[in-house]
Amino acid sequence: MDFKDLNLSTPLLNAIDELGYTTPTTIQSKAFSVIMSGRDVCGIAQTGTGKTVAYLLPCLRLWKFSKDRFPQVLIVVPTRELVKQVTDEIEKLTKYMSVVTVGVFGGVNMRPQMMEVENGCDIVVATPGRLLDLVLEGSLKLKAIKRLVIDEVDELFNLGFRTQINNILDRMPERRQNLLFSATLTPEVEELMRAYFNNPERVEAAPAGTPVANIEQTLYEVPNFNTKVNLLELLLSNDETMNKVLVFAATKKLADDLYDCMAERFPDEVGVIHSNKAQNQRFNAIKRFRDGNYRFIIATDLVARGIDISEVTHVMNFDVPEEPESYVHRIGRTGRADKKGISITFMTEKERPLMEAVEQLMNYKVPVVALPEDLEISDVLTPDEIPKVRMRETLVVAPKITDSGGAFHEKLAKNKKVNVKVSHKDKMRAKYGKPKSRGSKK
Ligand code: AMP
Repeated sequence: MDFKDLNLSTPLLNAIDELGYTTPTTIQSKAFSVIMSGRDVCGIAQTGTGKTVAYLLPCLRLWKFSKDRFPQVLIVVPTRELVKQVTDEIEKLTKYMSVVTVGVFGGVNMRPQMMEVENGCDIVVATPGRLLDLVLEGSLKLKAIKRLVIDEVDELFNLGFRTQINNILDRMPERRQNLLFSATLTPEVEELMRAYFNNPERVEAAPAGTPVANIEQTLYEVPNFNTKVNLLELLLSNDETMNKVLVFAATKKLADDLYDCMAERFPDEVGVIHSNKAQNQRFNAIKRFRDGNYRFIIATDLVARGIDISEVTHVMNFDVPEEPESYVHRIGRTGRADKKGISITFMTEKERPLMEAVEQLMNYKVPVVALPEDLEISDVLTPDEIPKVRMRETLVVAPKITDSGGAFHEKLAKNKKVNVKVSHKDKMRAKYGKPKSRGSKK
């Protein structure tokens, strides 16, 4: 199939041509006609499948110029990085159109964004909180919205945006088309569609959990954190094909610790991004990575979702993620849109059950490769790895005296005497034939 086979306009075809896209990806060809038909859509697609272009193309094809410039398309995404990525993609696709796009997100001054939307625009890309603020302020009018796209719904829910999403949906014009994209179809996502969507048609890029086939996956069994650091260093030093490497770390702290170790060994070649870093710093780090100034970048799962970097040569899982779906997301960053990619995972014994969950989800066993011979195995453990020595609280209970079987000789007669305690009441009864009570005393 060719982009020309889709019913696109010349300005769009020219822009696609300039972007160098030759053939539509699976989700792009599948979603196009369904969205064009006006039906609600539920797209199951991970990042890397070309899903953004999949919903943008029909939305742009259906867009009509209007003088009043109230937005016709609203795209809700979980992170500011995604706002940036989607607006960038729209800018490129609308190079020969007069579409005005505004991206809004929290964490920055709201005033400039208010002015931008008040000046009039055709498409708004937004994170949920800021979007609601702008609507409540009266700056953003939703009355002309014809198409609502909720992208990465599963992630929006993970981030706790459920109430905001409901709130936004409640404020939408009745007559509109709803498009939803999610990597996985969770019960929560289904619930949302039941409540707000009109008989959505499902389009899938690949069954959820199936990694893109053109990713070569390998697994190293590594004893501890410090050996993982050594291994990462060694691989980066020995393999020159690793020139655009995305390293995933589970937590912000881990990402920072790893960055400190790597920055010493590879100064000026490494960047770090996570949600505690200032937004500017994040954008800059991504830019340097994209431009090839940074050879590798260390990221946490969340921020990595939104970054759009093509030609990532390798994804390194410095650890196995807690959520098996995150693994699929992570490795989806390499081998994007039909380019071959490599994913390498470092796993400690403790992480084995997590890896098993990943393999079960993918229905694929990741081959284990032997550690390089020149790898320095460290036996220095991090505070987290040192086994906690806990004293077991055992209650010392005195042994129960049981019948020990008696002595081996006969007791002497005097010792045979048994103390029989007779109560005062019984003694009185024996003496007087009846209980001696206070009443009888009287
Ligand atoms: P996404 O899945 O939307 O995150 O997009 C993945 C990447 O693939 C982005 O960098 C897009 O620019 C790129 N892309 C989207 N569609 C195509 C296509 N048909 N051919 C080549 N690259 C594409």
